[in-house]
Amino acid sequence: MVKYINRYFCCGFRLQSIIITCILFVPLAMAAQPAEEIDNLKAALLQLQATQRFNGIMVQAKNGQILAKQIAGNNFGEQTGNFSVSTPFQVPGFEQPLAALVTLQLVKQRKISRSADCKTFFPEFPYNGITLNHLLTQQSGLPDYTNWYKMHRGPLDTLTLAGLPGLLKTLAPPLLFKPGSQRMHSLTNDLLLILLAEKVTGKSFGILVEEMIFKPWQMKDAVWLAPPVDELNTNFVRSFYWENDRQVMVKPGMDAAMAIPFVYASANDLVQFANRCYNQLSAHTEFEKIITTEPATNETGFWQTQSGKGFSYSGSRNGFDVLLQYEAKTGETLVVQNRSSNPIAVTIANNWLKGNKIHVPATSLIVNVKVADGTGTMLRQAAVRIEGNRILAIGDLHPFEGETVTDGEGNILAPGFIDTHSHLAGYLDDYPEALAALNQGVTTIISGQDGGGDPVDSLEAMITRKPIAINLATYTGHTTLRRQAMGEGSLLRPASDAEISRMQQALKTELQKGSLGLSTGLEYEGAFYSHRNEVLALARTTAAGKGRYMSHIRSEDISMHEAIDEIIELGREAKLPVLISHIKIALKDEWGTANRLIATLQKARAEGIDITADCYPYDFWNSTLRVLFPNKNFTNPAAALFAAEHLFDPEGSVLVRFAPDTTYKGKTIAEIARIRGETPAQTLLYLVAAADKYAKDHPDATGIETIMGKSMTEEDIVPFLSWAHTNICSDGGNGGHPRGYGSFTRVLHRYVHEMKIMSWETAIHKMTGLAAEHTGIKERGFIIPGYFADLVLIDPETVKDNAGINDSRALSDGILKVWVNGTPVYENKQFLGKYPGVFVGR
Ligand SMILES: [Zn+2]
Repeated sequence: MVKYINRYFCCGFRLQSIIITCILFVPLAMAAQPAEEIDNLKAALLQLQATQRFNGIMVQAKNGQILAKQIAGNNFGEQTGNFSVSTPFQVPGFEQPLAALVTLQLVKQRKISRSADCKTFFPEFPYNGITLNHLLTQQSGLPDYTNWYKMHRGPLDTLTLAGLPGLLKTLAPPLLFKPGSQRMHSLTNDLLLILLAEKVTGKSFGILVEEMIFKPWQMKDAVWLAPPVDELNTNFVRSFYWENDRQVMVKPGMDAAMAIPFVYASANDLVQFANRCYNQLSAHTEFEKIITTEPATNETGFWQTQSGKGFSYSGSRNGFDVLLQYEAKTGETLVVQNRSSNPIAVTIANNWLKGNKIHVPATSLIVNVKVADGTGTMLRQAAVRIEGNRILAIGDLHPFEGETVTDGEGNILAPGFIDTHSHLAGYLDDYPEALAALNQGVTTIISGQDGGGDPVDSLEAMITRKPIAINLATYTGHTTLRRQAMGEGSLLRPASDAEISRMQQALKTELQKGSLGLSTGLEYEGAFYSHRNEVLALARTTAAGKGRYMSHIRSEDISMHEAIDEIIELGREAKLPVLISHIKIALKDEWGTANRLIATLQKARAEGIDITADCYPYDFWNSTLRVLFPNKNFTNPAAALFAAEHLFDPEGSVLVRFAPDTTYKGKTIAEIARIRGETPAQTLLYLVAAADKYAKDHPDATGIETIMGKSMTEEDIVPFLSWAHTNICSDGGNGGHPRGYGSFTRVLHRYVHEMKIMSWETAIHKMTGLAAEHTGIKERGFIIPGYFADLVLIDPETVKDNAGINDSRALSDGILKVWVNGTPVYENKQFLGKYPGVFVGR
């Protein structure tokens, strides 16, 4: 349940996100841990300290008396001395219980009433019907103001607490729910309570909290720092993050200008706080009521444990992490405070409290590599540290004692490649090692292509039943939806309104389950007869579910311009990102016009339509003979003649599979025509008719015929690959067309190393970060601390695809090592026997 929005806090550009507080009160029945078990936790914290993951203090107490402690803090900079149980750390999110407790005392003193309307105190308050009680119990529906303020503030603006009601008036963010109908923590509630307490007492909240809580509760080290906190006194513990093996101090940053107060408290203070909350506070029954309310809609905020007598609280902000847990039955308290921008100690302590075995994820280090981080920026010499399944750090890093080290020998380390158009999913049950993907550096494949694919549930079940070596994500196929809604034998017509709405319902469910969006294969018969409006209706459902659209467009040859118009119109009307699958020009008459098509797409982009494409690096495709009949007139001699003259090259196109007569397998259409003493057009008609008859005679047969059709030219492929909004895909399966095993390495070898049409950085960006952006895949595609450790080590001198038409499963050269979710899975052309792949939801 622990969700850290910003798992780590390691680089400058993340500074903006530190104001996002994540407060978590973890429901638990504090399982009594035997005394010796605390030693395990202590040992874990020491291990974390030795590996730059913990710098702070842990305290275990009973009835306010400290039983055990572990101090794993070293000092730096201007700060001297060692931590003690009296050292105050920043306690992220602690303003919430303090605001609630002070308010309850003021209610008890009859200075304010819980039923009072907020407008009574703040005339400019723009909402009706929000009472003080709603603020107190986190039921106001007010969103966290910080997100709104960030969007609207000027660079020099400083928000004061007193300015908060005015800010709400100016920005008037809509309520998240009707006041009183739900419960969701919001910093806005806490700060309004603080402001209100100051208003009715005429005292600053710092004085109030000192008088009402800190002093009487013996919280001797606790301090309330009212906003704006510009610069911290050197006596205060500062947080830091690790950069290039050095500690970098965290500045108060944006929080200072956002009216967010800082609370500092020592481990001792927190032990006292936990005890008094339950045992001495006269208003505690009320306080308990507030924290006992079950979380309704999200897991932020604070609430009581399942035992009914205790609470658990953890939070991260500004590089500080805290855990405070108290169980009234046993009088036991556990405090963990950390200042090194890494919540793992809190996570481990939480698990320990639940009675789980302690597991400190191992780290490993990859050194001596040139990192292409997926953004397209220049290669840089760096080391990358992995922790469990994620990237922990990148930079000038040195091994910890006993750490596993991989020497990259100066090669390129890139994020694992993401194949945005893959047909490999169907083979994973038989080939869970996914060599087709791994041998070319692909660590995540996206299935559900061309309108086909399986539901999310079946894919997840498949992985659970039989773990796989790579990650799998999916789109929801339009034709799959049609099959469900219209029936298998009934696809050669437009869908009715009722059928469309059934499809929309099913699509909505799939999106909720983690599908990336909607995919169509409009050129194929199962979807060709759909109207634009049917697709548009489904695209609107997709947009509402925050999904994306990708399409094998309605024609890649004779009616390509109309098909392009259709996808642009769809992006414009449904307002969602659209992607053209395996972009190509397959009409011989239009070869060489790729730049004209790109200009059309750029124009659409300039209009604000988010249109992109993926592309595979081959001049021949792999499909059914039937796609050569754009109007589906499979018996028409004129159509066959047109296909032979304009749509493909019979001399360069090979029949890869042909069940009715296997002797034709591996021959070109021109060769077969010569054997049969026919023209290629006549042969085409014969082949389609024979396959059709075979299908009727063998209703269960699949894959009756496949052609590798040459109908593209490199003259177009180069500009398509180079377009700034094209990412790389394979469109491949497990053999057949060589693209299944060789697409990514072919781009690196042929187009980067040999032809130099783009840089290594750009090509890798198109295989990783750009692919993730085009498909909505999160936390992959870049080498960034906190992201999943999908990685590939590439030798730029030797990388090369070896798969060809006659040897479609030949493994690539130069893919030295591949990691999936932190686990090495492939090295020196060998599968390493591990299956760490997961289903990647949206
Ligand atoms: Zn396709």
